[in-house]
Amino acid sequence: MERTLILLKPDALQRGLAGEILARFEKKGLKIVGLKLMKMSAELAAKHYEAHKARPFYPGLVKFMTSSPIVAIALEGIGAIKICRNLMGATFGADAAAGTIRGDFGVSRSFNLVHGSDGPEAAARELGLFFPEGLVDFEFGAYRWIYDPDEELKKG
Ligand code: UDP
Ligand code: MG
Repeated sequence: MERTLILLKPDALQRGLAGEILARFEKKGLKIVGLKLMKMSAELAAKHYEAHKARPFYPGLVKFMTSSPIVAIALEGIGAIKICRNLMGATFGADAAAGTIRGDFGVSRSFNLVHGSDGPEAAARELGLFFPEGLVDFEFGAYRWIYDPDEELKKG
C-alpha cells in the first residue's frame, strides 16, 4: 500500500467543490487515512513548496495557498500516488483532459483546485508536514472488493 498527500486548495472550498472532489478520490477506491480543514501558514507553504522557491509563480502561489482554508487529505491504496495524479489531470485547467478534476472543474493556470504528491519521497515528506501527529489506521472492509484478495491484496 502506498500513501499520498492531497490538498484541496482555497478555490476548491470557496467554489463549493470540496465534497465533490473528495468523492472522486473516494469513489475510485482510495482509503482516507487523514482529513483536516486548516489554514496554511506562510511557514508551512514555504516548506511545502520549497522546490518551487526560485520560480516566477512562487510568490503568487504562496499568497493563494495561504489566502483561505484548505483541506489536507491523506489517501492510501496500491499505486495511490499515480492514481491520484491521473485523477487530478494536467497542471493547467485549460489543458487538463475532460474527466479529470482539473479538466472538469477549472480553467486557470494557478487556481487549479488540488495538489497531489508527485512521487514516494515527496509523499513521505509532505505527509509529515501536514500530518505530524500521524495518520489514522483502521481496517477498511472495502479493500477486499476494491482489489482481488487472491492477487493484488496478497502482494500489497
Ligand atoms: N503554478 C502556477 N503557475 C505555473 C505553474 C504552477 O501558479 O506556471 C502553481 C499551480 O497551482 C501548481 C503549483 O504551482 O499546482 C505547483 O506546480 P507544479 O508544477 O508542481 O504542478 P502540479 O504538481 O500541482 O501539477
Ligand atoms: Mg507538483
